[in-house]
Amino acid sequence: MRGALRSDVVVIGAGSAGLTAAIRLAQAGAQVTVIAKGSGSTQLAPGWIDVAGYMPGERAPLASPRRGIERLVARWPDHPYALLGVQAVKDTLAWLLATVAAGPLAGYTYSGGLDANMRLVTALGGLRPSACAPVTFTAGEAAGLRRVAIVGVPALRDFHPRLCADNLLAAGIEASAHSVALDLGRADASALALARALDDTRARRAFAASLAAVVGASDAVGLPAILGLHEAPAVHSELQERLGRPVFEIPTLPPSVPGLRLYEILRHALRAAGGRLVLGASVVSHERSGERVTRVDTATAGSPSGYEAEQYVLASGGFHSGALELDSHWQAREAVLGLPLAGLPREGAPRFVADYFDEQPFSRVGVAVHADLRAVGAANVFVAGASLPGAVPWREASGEGIALASGYRVAELVAAEVGATPAPQSSGAAAPAEGVGA
Ligand SMILES: Cc1cc2nc3c(=O)[nH]c(=O)nc-3n(C[C@H](O)[C@H](O)[C@H](O)COP(=O)(O)OP(=O)(O)OC[C@H]3O[C@@H](n4cnc5c(N)ncnc54)[C@H](O)[C@@H]3O)c2cc1C
Repeated sequence: MRGALRSDVVVIGAGSAGLTAAIRLAQAGAQVTVIAKGSGSTQLAPGWIDVAGYMPGERAPLASPRRGIERLVARWPDHPYALLGVQAVKDTLAWLLATVAAGPLAGYTYSGGLDANMRLVTALGGLRPSACAPVTFTAGEAAGLRRVAIVGVPALRDFHPRLCADNLLAAGIEASAHSVALDLGRADASALALARALDDTRARRAFAASLAAVVGASDAVGLPAILGLHEAPAVHSELQERLGRPVFEIPTLPPSVPGLRLYEILRHALRAAGGRLVLGASVVSHERSGERVTRVDTATAGSPSGYEAEQYVLASGGFHSGALELDSHWQAREAVLGLPLAGLPREGAPRFVADYFDEQPFSRVGVAVHADLRAVGAANVFVAGASLPGAVPWREASGEGIALASGYRVAELVAAEVGATPAPQSSGAAAPAEGVGA
């Protein structure tokens, strides 16, 4: 018999869906192992929790995420939110706020909820709806912006303060563009390198002094999201203090510093709860006994490893992560466990539409699930996140909402299967409960 690591639950995928499920299960007392090819899209995305920002086909953003969930479900009854419900999303946000507040970045918090979408500034000077965002972003809420200074750092080549400011102007917000050097001794630098530089007290004091010289009479200052990796709360509050006005971050191209902060917070929570994380391990085969998966095997840089569990959570993402594949004959398949798919275009229907940004016929494809998020044809596999069918997160601005809430809900369902008991949300660390819509 080949050796295998045995756990109560194996979670496949370390994006926000898999980590949320794993943390909740480990907190409930289950033995959990997360195995993942890589670290998921958390580090690519801006760290905002978009729940329901748009109704596809409508131009105006949705004012209320709660109402957005209801409208998405009414229009698309197979939408993942139909299986989750508003209450699960609300509980998930409360849990996330508490998890961030109790995490390793003391003073770093998220705010928001289901009552109203914030409209936050993007790198192009657009205003995007989001339900929940880190404290370093929320001063950029459009409703509060009058005269804003957008400041770039020349070493960060992909952020253009003039472009951002001009588009804000076009949206009716008085905005000016500036540049301040943050010298790392080389011509260009990534957002991550700049954030690490600002973790240093002396560097951020010098940066604050240079900023003070350019921001003029603005009421708020927008900077690319480089305000510290491990010291973000200190960097943010020191800049605000020194400049005497609100300072907010604007998302950058990947790697996303606020995404890395969120990933680190979730990873820390998993470790603290006793869960195990194995990165760089790609599931390449599995074994079954009837409708039950009994073992998965991974390829790693070292030797292959086997993992056995009573229950499995599939949180391996969609086409973007390689968990779903489309071959040259337009046949889609689930690449990790070979599970049946749902949301496929009808036989003979077009396979793509000409407008790239329109909804593509394969956009809603995902792993077929029963109402309890159990995979069709695999009695001990539960599905979470972008693996679920029925949503078009890019068009709905719903990606993180679905990922986190389905991870949270799957943990409850799997906990019941393995005899573990997840803590009720109200007993979590001090969640700013008023931040989550009643
Ligand atoms: C560039 C980018 C920007 C985004 N911006 C936003 C945004 O602004 N707002 C928002 O709400 N959402 C955004 N999203 C979407 C959002 O991040 C995702 O919908 C959400 O994070 C999905 O999470 P997930 O955990 O389901 O999947 P993922 O984050 O994709 O994680 C999948 C995990 O499965 C692992 N995996 C895949 N195949 C295997 C295998 N064979 N074996 C082992 N592991 C495997 C991967 O390595 C990874 O760890 C963005 C996504 C991307 C890519």
